[in-house]
Amino acid sequence: MYKRKLDDSKEGHPKRLKSLDRDSITDTEDIVPIKVFCRIRPVSSQPSDIYEITSSHSLKINPPSHASETAIEQFEFTSILGPCTTQEQVAATICYPLINDFVEKGKSALLFSYGITNAGKTHTIMGTYENPGITIRALKDLIDRNLTFKVQFFEIYNDRVYDLLQEYSKKEQRQSLKVRQDSSNVKIIGISEKRIQTFTEAMDCLRLGLNNRKLAETACNQVSSRSHSVFLIMLEGENAPKFAIVDLAGAERTLRANTVGERLKEASYINNSLSVLGRCLEAIKNNQSKGKKDMIPFRDTLLTKIFSEFFGMGEDKNISLIININQCKEDFEETLSVLKFGAITTGIKPMKSKLGQHRNVPGQEIARLQELEELLRAKEEEIEELKRQEMLKTQEQLQNVKQRELELESELRSKIAQEVESMLAKQSDLYKTSRDMLIKNYDEIMKTKDEMWASKLSKLKKNINCIDTCTSPLRETIVEVTIPKIYLNPFVTEEISIQTEDAPQPIEEKFGLIKEIKENTQKIKEEDTENKENQQAPKPLKSKPKHKTNLSSPIARRTRKGLRKNAH
Ligand code: ADP
Repeated sequence: MYKRKLDDSKEGHPKRLKSLDRDSITDTEDIVPIKVFCRIRPVSSQPSDIYEITSSHSLKINPPSHASETAIEQFEFTSILGPCTTQEQVAATICYPLINDFVEKGKSALLFSYGITNAGKTHTIMGTYENPGITIRALKDLIDRNLTFKVQFFEIYNDRVYDLLQEYSKKEQRQSLKVRQDSSNVKIIGISEKRIQTFTEAMDCLRLGLNNRKLAETACNQVSSRSHSVFLIMLEGENAPKFAIVDLAGAERTLRANTVGERLKEASYINNSLSVLGRCLEAIKNNQSKGKKDMIPFRDTLLTKIFSEFFGMGEDKNISLIININQCKEDFEETLSVLKFGAITTGIKPMKSKLGQHRNVPGQEIARLQELEELLRAKEEEIEELKRQEMLKTQEQLQNVKQRELELESELRSKIAQEVESMLAKQSDLYKTSRDMLIKNYDEIMKTKDEMWASKLSKLKKNINCIDTCTSPLRETIVEVTIPKIYLNPFVTEEISIQTEDAPQPIEEKFGLIKEIKENTQKIKEEDTENKENQQAPKPLKSKPKHKTNLSSPIARRTRKGLRKNAH
């Protein structure tokens, strides 16, 4: 646990800070300049004499013989942590004061490490499980205070945010997350948040995040020092303070790293984000010290966007930077530029952003203007994002409608095809059944047909015979009978129809008449015989009255007519 409370006035600030125009900053009560610490990594071999700690906050540079730049001789820091400083001492000097303000004053905090690869950044920020660094100690401190809080853990790789607390399956491709920024907040859409109550839960989170980082490294041949990692602790409640612990990617130059391909891309993203960070700090410093109104390019990279929340987009914050250096002679040039970055940062104050607070002070008016500009830009970006999302939505909807149309059409087509198919199948079944039935019953049908014909013919024959027998006796006599022509319709199966030439008459009637004719004929015959006999013994002819009743029918009348005709 940290024992001493750092006093800025006692510890002092780098010399460059003295040149700051302090009068331009009105509200000095709450706003504390960024604290810049320097931690020097121990070496296993003979310690180098390049970096000489002359006081608790002064570092003298003794450039090696090959160095091109020798002008800068001394750098001032809030505190210098030599090679022998333990992890606990580092936490006590740098981290615990921030946690105190975080918990007790509700002050958000940003703590970040800057240095080239192998300078000891990760060792300082994360450390090992055996020798924990700042993050683990900060978590332990918060849990010891019986606090419940939430955490996020993510990395920024090639200017994209990746969630480190998501449970990825091994084959799953991790997706980058969108970042949205309003006037005072930076929001990562869809990021995982874990609620922490116990130290075990905290360690589980860290393990998961570090494991995800390793998996990503293996998957895309990434090296962890090529991404910025951010561990975010949030107290519970509305507008609760945030504590961000950031391990920046290695700040070495691209050229020296002799990089090509994917490594070159990574390096250019890192260089860009770190140089934008440097430009932001320089702009803030100039604005604060010289009353300038330079635009602060926070929005140029994701890293600086996230940092902007701590630098100038809300309540007063605590910001601490750790400059990590190793003592290698070969790294001198790059270490020197890291130290210069520290020098720029020294003395900067987080900007107070409450609008209207700094009226009447030219420097503050400018700051306010900048805030307004930032606000405007944020809103514009928000609008653009919304527009883009709306466009995507419309496109998606259109696509959905088209897709649905195609689906319906294909559904309909397949339905029709199915129905046609089933109809054809049914028809072919019916045809088959009929054909089979026909084949099976052919003989029987033909037999029935023959029988029908035979029966019709026999009926017909019977009829014809019947007429024949009744006509022949007539012919023998002097009477001539018109035999009606009989038409037979062989296609009428139910009943045989017989028609006369003169007028259609029912068959029964015809047969009745024939019978009558027959009887009359018979009688006439008998009369003839009688007459013949009487001729031998002449007797007067019997009169016709006998046939009176029988001969009243139309045929009989016609017969009589015929008889009379013949008599003439
Ligand atoms: P960076 O993150 O800057 O690339 P690391 O933190 O990974 O550097 O450090 C590189 C190596 O040096 C690691 O093996 C780490 O354990 C070791 N190291 C760094 N700082 C210290 C220290 N203060 N004490 C002991 N070992 C350290």
